[in-house]
Amino acid sequence: MTTTLEVPRKPTPATDTVATLWPAQTEDLLRALAGRVRDSVCAAEQNLGHLEEELRRGGHELFRQMLEKAAQQKADATPPLCPHCQNKLSRLSPGHFTTIQTRFGPIRGQRLRGYCRRCRKWRFAADALLGLPEEGTQSPAVQEMAALTVSKMPATEAEQVVQRLAGIKISAATLGRAARQQGQRAQTQRAQLDQKMSTPEGRTQPDRDLQLQLPLEPFTLGIELDAWNIRERDDWGQSAARRAQGQEPSRWHWAYGGTSFRLNQRAQSAGGRPTILSRGYVMTRGGGEALKEQLWAEAMRRGLGRAHEVLIVADGAVWIWNLAGDRFPGARQRVDFYHVSQHLWAVAHTLHPEDPAAARAWVQPLLAKLKADESCAVITELEPLQARLEGARAQAVQKEVNYLQSQRERMDYGTAQRKSEPLGSGAMESTCRQYQCRFKRPGQFWSQTGDEALICLETFRRNGRWHLLFPHSAHPSKN
Ligand SMILES: [Zn+2]
Repeated sequence: MTTTLEVPRKPTPATDTVATLWPAQTEDLLRALAGRVRDSVCAAEQNLGHLEEELRRGGHELFRQMLEKAAQQKADATPPLCPHCQNKLSRLSPGHFTTIQTRFGPIRGQRLRGYCRRCRKWRFAADALLGLPEEGTQSPAVQEMAALTVSKMPATEAEQVVQRLAGIKISAATLGRAARQQGQRAQTQRAQLDQKMSTPEGRTQPDRDLQLQLPLEPFTLGIELDAWNIRERDDWGQSAARRAQGQEPSRWHWAYGGTSFRLNQRAQSAGGRPTILSRGYVMTRGGGEALKEQLWAEAMRRGLGRAHEVLIVADGAVWIWNLAGDRFPGARQRVDFYHVSQHLWAVAHTLHPEDPAAARAWVQPLLAKLKADESCAVITELEPLQARLEGARAQAVQKEVNYLQSQRERMDYGTAQRKSEPLGSGAMESTCRQYQCRFKRPGQFWSQTGDEALICLETFRRNGRWHLLFPHSAHPSKN
C-alpha cells in the first residue's frame, strides 16, 4: 500500500474541461504542502492552529490557479453583448488584460472589450457573468468581504480582519470604496423591492424571500419606531465661511428606524427575556418621508395587508404620530411606558426637589394607576398641583400635564398587560443602539451618501436579504 498522496495524472487532451482547469505543478505543490504539514506535526511547539494555517496558505495557491483558469473559460464563453443592456457590442477588441482581486489572491485574465451604442460606453462583455463591478476589479467574494466588514467596523480595522481571516491583503481605501459601491447597489435594490410592494403583482409575487405563509390565526402586527443621531460633515472646509454668513454648520442629523413583527411571533429566551422570532427592519438617513415609505413596504412584507389589527409603539415624538396617522390609519397607538414614567418622575422631582424618598413615594401610586389604565385619574390628580406652585415650578408641572394630556389616548398599559403586548418600544431602541455601535464612534464623521449606503447594507443583512446582493452566499453545495 502506498502512502504517497493520490494525485490524478495531469491530463493532456485540451478538450477535457476538467483537465483544462487543473493547476500546473499540482503534484509538486501538494507534495511541498504535505512536507510542511509533516514538519508541523513533528514540531512540539505547534498545535492544530499551525496545521490549519499551513493548509490555508498552501491551498490558496492551488485554488488561485484553478480559479484563474475557470474565470478565463467563463470570460471566453461570453457572447459579445453589453453586460448592462444586452445590446450587441461593436468595435470589438479582445485581449484586455486585467488583474482581479479574489479570495485566493490576485488572478490575471483577458477580457473582450467592445463599444455599446445604447449605453454610449466601452464595456467588457464578461463583467456580468464574472460579477465584476462597473468600476473596480474585486471579485464577488471580495465585494462581500468588504460589505460585511466595513458595515461592522472602520475600514482600517476591516483591512486587518480580512488579512488575518482570509489571508489576503486589500487596502482600507479599496475596502471602503467597495463597501460603499455595494451599499449603493443595496439602496437601488431596496427601492425596487419597495416599489414592487405597491403594485398588485408585487404583493402576490411568488417570491420565497418576501412572501410570508398565510397565517393560521388572526394576528396583530406590531410596529415600533425610534430615531438616533449621526454626525456628518458634508460642508467640510466651509465651516468658517458658513459662520461668517451667520449660519452655524449642522453636524448632527437624525437617522430614523422602524421594526415590524407579528405579536404572536414572540417567545421567551432560556433566560426568560422576551425575544422576537422574526422581524423586519428599516433604517434610513433619508428623512421622515423615506422612512414612511420603507416602513410601509417592510410592514407589507410582514403581513400588514392580512393583519387583524396594527399596533404602533413609540416614544412621544410628534413626527412619529404624524407618520403613523398618515401611513397606518386605523392602527392602535401606544406611547412607550418608560418614556411616560420619566415625565411623571420630572413632576415628582419638581414637587420634592430635595427629597428622593418623598419623590418616589409620590410617583409610585401614579405609575401603578397608569398600569391599571387610569391615565385620566393621573392627569386629574396632577392638574390642581400647578395652582399650589409658583413661577418656574408651576410651568414645569404645566408642561408635563400638557404632555400627558396630549398622549392620554395612547396610555393603555392595562390592556397591554392583559393582552401580553409590549408596553414600550424597547425592541426598536435596542436596535438603534446596535446601529450606533458602528456609526457613533469617537472622532467619526460621515457624509449622508456614505452612511446611508452602509446603513442599507446592515439592514439588508438583518432582513435576511444578503443573498440578493451576493447570490453566491446562498449557493447550495453538492457536498
Ligand atoms: Zn449597453
